[in-house]
Amino acid sequence: MRIDVVSIFPEYFEPLRLSLLGRAIADGTLQLSVHDLRDWTTDRHRTVDDTPLGGGAGMVMKPDVWGRALEDVLGGHESTAAGARPGRRVLAIPTPAGTPLTQRLVEDLAAADHLVIACGRYEGIDARVAEHFARHIEVVEYSIGDYVLNGGEAAALVLVEAVGRLQEGVLGNPESLAEESHGAAGLLEYPVYTRPVSWQGLTVPDVLLSGHHARIARWRRDRALERTAHRRPDMFTRLRGDQLTWEDREVLARLGWARTPAGPRRLVLREGRAEEAAALSRLAAETFPMACPERMPAEDIEAFIRANLSPGRFSDYLGDGDRYLILVADLAGDLAGYTLSVLPRTVDEPPYAEDVAAVVPIRPVAELSKIYVRASAHGSGVSQALLDATLDALARRTVLGVPLAGVWLGTNARNRRARAFYERAGFTLVGGRRFQVGGRVEDDAVFLRALVAPPS
Ligand code: SAM
Repeated sequence: MRIDVVSIFPEYFEPLRLSLLGRAIADGTLQLSVHDLRDWTTDRHRTVDDTPLGGGAGMVMKPDVWGRALEDVLGGHESTAAGARPGRRVLAIPTPAGTPLTQRLVEDLAAADHLVIACGRYEGIDARVAEHFARHIEVVEYSIGDYVLNGGEAAALVLVEAVGRLQEGVLGNPESLAEESHGAAGLLEYPVYTRPVSWQGLTVPDVLLSGHHARIARWRRDRALERTAHRRPDMFTRLRGDQLTWEDREVLARLGWARTPAGPRRLVLREGRAEEAAALSRLAAETFPMACPERMPAEDIEAFIRANLSPGRFSDYLGDGDRYLILVADLAGDLAGYTLSVLPRTVDEPPYAEDVAAVVPIRPVAELSKIYVRASAHGSGVSQALLDATLDALARRTVLGVPLAGVWLGTNARNRRARAFYERAGFTLVGGRRFQVGGRVEDDAVFLRALVAPPS
């Protein structure tokens, strides 16, 4: 690749002779020339600027001087041999009013054969320069950030370095490009460490010393997701569904982001509010049938909804905080899921059904009675995050001063996906129970999970 830089301060580019780029320039992998704009002036004072037409502060760089310089530089170095297809030429003009320079734009520019960078000073270059050259070649006005520098030289250095390191043969180990921030994964890179293992009281995470490649890869991926969600949530919103595994989605949901078919949404897990009884009832009526066995008659389902999931019933649940805990998954203002837990009123109150009480020996014990997530949020990690948040909230609850020791739940014995979901969250199968819905008797598997109160 050939790069020409035009500036009134050619000395500014001396540092490019150092390090990896310096070597690439020395061995011809990268052909770099720096030109002094004043070489194209015609007056005794070598003038490159004039006052702004229309008035205002500062000076503007003259189009005629820039025009001559760029014609020469662009035309003077044919990018390809005579007769061959003309190479791709790009004129890059740094300006704080330009398109943000991203790794995507850098990758695109790195594929050009000939890049010319025109460094402005003062108030910038007369706008007709970009307009004129755009009639003949590609012109990219780019910005390196939302701040203003005195001149384009630093922005040109940035572009040369970013584009230069992507040229074949410039980096010693091209694999270092694979997992970088802003790469194909669309994430920031995970934190990196080296020896000594312990320094200033700070120790390198154990997993990195384990030699267990799969665990190290997962740990790095989790940190990359975490960093991106905290520092650059804007990047996360651009991630495509196929860039995230199921595990990634669960991690992100815990970080407060959920991917939905309509795009990424902010996820807040919080207690339900009294004024949400009607919305919760609608959500419950929508989600309850999804979990019912196929052969269950519609009348039975409707009767159950009327009896247990009406707005009135939800008002009761929300109004009795000692007995019920409702947590909701609030996806950008919409309720996407909820859990309903039933808490004991006394320390030794047993689960209400005898067959459950027989297999759930610990007290005080709560029941996770419902966990439902709207179909449109399935696969987004919301269910996992909602369950985690519910378990956390229950672990903090006390009954007459005694922390809850466990939580049980019943789930359809034939629903293998649900069973796997609870097992992954630390529940173990402890028995079964018979359960009446309308006129039918259903078999439920009973799961139990111990709770550990967080240190106060
Ligand atoms: N009047 C211009 C404006 O407000 O957009 C700012 C001109 S600036 C003082 C002078 C030169 O610095 C620009 O022509 C450009 O070459 C360079 N420059 C300043 N900030 C830059 C940025 N964030 N990205 C790229 N180039 C920048």
